[in-house]
Amino acid sequence: GGTSLKDSPCVSCGACASTCPSGAIDDKTVLLLGVPERFTRTTCPYCGVGCELDVGVKGGRITQILPALDSPVNKGHACVKGRYAWGFLDAPDRVTRPLIRKDGVLSSASWDEAIGFVAGRLKDILAARGPSAVGVLGSSRSTNEENYVAQKFARVVLGTNNVDCCARVCHAPTAHAMAGLFGTGAATSSYDDLERARTILVCGANATENHPVVGARIRQAARRGTSLIVIDPRRIELAAEATIHLATRPGTNVALLQAMAHVILREGLADEEFLRERVVDVEQFRTALAESTPERVSAICHVPVDRIVAAARLYATAKPGLIVHGLGATEHRQGSDGVAALSDLALLTGNVGKPGSGVNPLRGQNNVQGSAHMGCEPSRLTGYVPIAKGKAAHEALWGSTLPAERGRDLMEMIDAAGQGALSALWCMGYDVAQTNPHRQATIAALKKLELLVVQDLFVTETAAEAAHVVIPAAASFEKDGTFMNAERRVSRVRAAVSPPTSDCRPDWVPLAEVARALGHGEQFAWHNVEQIWDEIRVAWPPGQGMAYRRLEQHGLQWPCPDEGHPGSTLLHGETFSMGKTTRLAFERFTETPEHVSEQYPFLLVTGRTLHAFNAGTMTGRTKNLELRPTDVLDIHPVDAGRLGIDDGAHVRITSARGEVELPARLTTEVHPGELFTTFHDVKARVNDLTGDVRDTATHTPEYKVTAVALAPVGARG
Ligand code: SF4
Ligand code: SF4
Repeated sequence: GGTSLKDSPCVSCGACASTCPSGAIDDKTVLLLGVPERFTRTTCPYCGVGCELDVGVKGGRITQILPALDSPVNKGHACVKGRYAWGFLDAPDRVTRPLIRKDGVLSSASWDEAIGFVAGRLKDILAARGPSAVGVLGSSRSTNEENYVAQKFARVVLGTNNVDCCARVCHAPTAHAMAGLFGTGAATSSYDDLERARTILVCGANATENHPVVGARIRQAARRGTSLIVIDPRRIELAAEATIHLATRPGTNVALLQAMAHVILREGLADEEFLRERVVDVEQFRTALAESTPERVSAICHVPVDRIVAAARLYATAKPGLIVHGLGATEHRQGSDGVAALSDLALLTGNVGKPGSGVNPLRGQNNVQGSAHMGCEPSRLTGYVPIAKGKAAHEALWGSTLPAERGRDLMEMIDAAGQGALSALWCMGYDVAQTNPHRQATIAALKKLELLVVQDLFVTETAAEAAHVVIPAAASFEKDGTFMNAERRVSRVRAAVSPPTSDCRPDWVPLAEVARALGHGEQFAWHNVEQIWDEIRVAWPPGQGMAYRRLEQHGLQWPCPDEGHPGSTLLHGETFSMGKTTRLAFERFTETPEHVSEQYPFLLVTGRTLHAFNAGTMTGRTKNLELRPTDVLDIHPVDAGRLGIDDGAHVRITSARGEVELPARLTTEVHPGELFTTFHDVKARVNDLTGDVRDTATHTPEYKVTAVALAPVGARG
């Protein structure tokens, strides 16, 4: 008659099963499937924390996954995804043979037939339309080696810089803004700095759900007395632990952060010595901020003046202060400006390059840092080097003349497909139809392609709707390589089990085979992933010291330029990556054009939750689904009462793009007038609602602000 585990505060992390001294608690899978005969150390396939896991196997099947006790990343901890969500490997709908669309139906084909079909179609399209009509999408779920091969394929075989990855829809603003201010578009510090900080400022990151192992460390730090500032429209779990919660109106981060900078300067709380030595044009910045008073900004972001002032004082004085940010900072029209404004705060207060300080993006997917860093980026080559700077070295290494012009990014490729300017797209491990905003427009664009190649574990929405060819893939538990986590750590991925058929191959294999069929065999002649990695080390000098043998124990954090180098836990101590000094960034706050109206009076924020991961391709085929069967709409009880919506009742949500129905969850975690949901459930189709507004600098979609109307199902408004 008590509370079920599902409804309790338990987060199903499994720590009690690992440590129960009497054996009274154990993983059910061990009881059902047997005690593992052997364990293989690998890196989690889910979030960007990059936990090291020991994968237990019996009779060729996984029966248990344990967090690595000796890992510096997760220190013996894991979450419900990494620890329990592996059942997708044996899902009955796993793609195990290539599929080619014939008479509108995806039909079984041989491996050679699929490779020949793709090579032939690409050759014809290149001959007819040229390299600007083709593109490649890498994947955060693929290894560094696979992403490297994907972008090399785009540039060398197809002759185009039309190559991108899902960093475009999440942290492209982070990489862009931080590369501009610090010279490196990645975390400045390490997870261990969370315990060294006296203040942690979390902006737009629901870490306890989306990066649970890091979220737990932040929570523990707060409970030990570290000051915690949380900037988030919702009362997320960390807000309950926070010293100060700044519950912003969605879309107003930039205004708030600039007001904090204003207070720091106005009250003389800046680190003048640091500014003198490391920052130029401070006076220009001070002048630009003159109007960003907390009094004025309070009316914009709906945060009381005294809280803005208190947060600024706390961050500037209880040092060192460490910033953690997530997609709530980046997925906005001013996403890049938001990350720049966070970086400004760190620079103003000298919270850079010291233990316990810095600016640290919580990268969403396990290898989103790596996929863009390997060169799946239309304006950057391997090592996130601008094309103009790295072109000559890459040409010498690859023995090929490379395109000089920036290519189309993901959003531009979808736009171009819709306009008939892109004819072929190769999607590696990326369900763009399910995850891009304005789903209907995305699918319509994909359907116009003459060739859509999808490489995936399942017939995803992208594959089902528009693929001409589906190539089966190996999951990370079935292949070797490396991932790069949110603290710049490259760690090993190792095959623990065999894929279901010999056609489920690592993502680089079909790319290399098509390259060979198109006359580029010599440039794609690797026999194993270590050979690919060794080529990457040549292409990317700051990674040169990270030989596989040095990655065996917990990996290394880059820069690591030679084999005697210990790796880098902290960046920008003496100099920034581009030199001794930098410049503060200021871009005036502007409202998003996506605003509430009489027709659409609610603001919908979208995000992720603990039990499911992103598009749900993997977690949606595991027991985690029992803990969270579908997406739900969070609505404040006052709004629900006004509209006659009961907890659990189905509601219709309508935006200017479309409408969806979801069960309602009444909660005070959201403000009246604001709503929250996720897009884990392919059936719920939440991205039918999200819109076309993008970050002005990087085109990252504004998933965080959608104006919608709401009605109980059965009522037509
Ligand atoms: S939160 Fe983790 S350790 Fe605590 S009861 Fe749940 S599974 Fe066990
Ligand atoms: S916190 Fe992230 S990396 Fe760690 S187990 Fe969970 S999903 Fe995997």
